[in-house]
Amino acid sequence: MTEQTCVRCGTRTPPSDIVNVASTDGTYRLLCSRCFNEEMAQWADTVGLEHP
Ligand SMILES: [Zn+2]
Repeated sequence: MTEQTCVRCGTRTPPSDIVNVASTDGTYRLLCSRCFNEEMAQWADTVGLEHP
């Protein structure tokens, strides 16, 4: 299978380890699982999860 390129870090990643993420503007981005986890953490901050 063809490797995909993570749009965030540019790493070539096997399709089994890449996530197709829907953006708020309706587009899709391919992220490796590591970047996906980082984006989710940033997103949690952005939407205002309260820090204790
Ligand atoms: Zn990445």
